[in-house]
Amino acid sequence: MGNHTLLKQINKLLVLKTILDNKTISRAKISKLVDLNKATVSNLTDELIKEGFVIEKGYGHSKGGRRPVLLEVNKNVGLIIGIDLGVNYIHLILTNFIGEIVWEKSANIRLGETQERILEVLFELIGEAIKVAPQTQKGILGIGIGVPGIVEKTSGIVLIAPNLRWKDVPLKAMVEERFNLPVYIDNEANAGALGEKWFGNWGDVSHLVYVSVGIGIGAGIVIGDEIYRGAKGFAGEVGHTTIDFNDDVCSCGNVGCLENFASERALLSLIQKIVESGWEDEYINKKNVDKLDASYIIDSAKLGSKVALHAIKDIANKLGIGIANLVNIFNPDIVIIGNKASFMGDLFLEELRRIVFKRSFITQYHHVRVEISKLKDRACVLGCVAMVISDMLAFPDYV
Ligand SMILES: [Zn+2]
Repeated sequence: MGNHTLLKQINKLLVLKTILDNKTISRAKISKLVDLNKATVSNLTDELIKEGFVIEKGYGHSKGGRRPVLLEVNKNVGLIIGIDLGVNYIHLILTNFIGEIVWEKSANIRLGETQERILEVLFELIGEAIKVAPQTQKGILGIGIGVPGIVEKTSGIVLIAPNLRWKDVPLKAMVEERFNLPVYIDNEANAGALGEKWFGNWGDVSHLVYVSVGIGIGAGIVIGDEIYRGAKGFAGEVGHTTIDFNDDVCSCGNVGCLENFASERALLSLIQKIVESGWEDEYINKKNVDKLDASYIIDSAKLGSKVALHAIKDIANKLGIGIANLVNIFNPDIVIIGNKASFMGDLFLEELRRIVFKRSFITQYHHVRVEISKLKDRACVLGCVAMVISDMLAFPDYV
């Protein structure tokens, strides 16, 4: 695609995104907000209307002269499937064209499950979503998938997903072949960052770090409104930054990675250690410690389990160290914690903020917001929906 065409597509996406953010808006107002001249905005909106993505919806107020025609995103033009392919679950949403959920389903995956079985569950879920999808003008426009690993964006190959033990899996091609629909793939934390940017309601934030804390830990880094991918697309592997140079070997081969101290898996092993040391309570004790999952521990903390509260505070403390490092490097407006950790409660956030503000040098000079995702465990799936819309418009062959 030539530079000129690409630029046009990006501007078109910008216009669509502006209409989406404002619900209804006139061409003149768009032109003011996106800093494009009125003729360009008119051409782009005309194309979007012709393609069915935008509709004209009544008239706005006028201070004299003709009342302006208002535009709105055509939410019923088609449907989008967003999928969070986690390490121990698959979460799918089917949405309309503005990200409103029409249907949703999750499936648990056993840790260490075979690739074959995971793909089987994935295909079943997608098949089910296609079956229940209501009739729309353009049908299902695309499938976006967030993966817990390093993804080559254009080919859609999962190069490496350590926690799934996947290597060189051509996921995009496999799903496209099976369902004959356009498929877009990205790292789950990048998708989460996109989800927060599009649907998180954080106001005007151009520099954002989204930290996904689940079985693993990854970060989606947005610099100047764009996802920062690094030279080869590997940026954001914050879970594998070293916070202890003496600790055990990590799945990535390094020693003392943040992931071993602050992930969902770290929470489980910390609870195990606490109980082994002889500290237990009515919620968490020797009898049930082998069967616990993170959700149970989080619920126990809310019910007052001292063991759970102690463990969650420790996880927040360690995660705070990793995030203080990120804050010092990227100076974001906001750090958003998502995935499993978004359920960990007030004590977790309090401790996390305390550590970040204590350890990050630049927070003395710039108030960096540290927040929990309001989208909770839907940041990634909604980001996958945004990815379909944005990639579809940037590569118009698919429309
Ligand atoms: Zn590691």
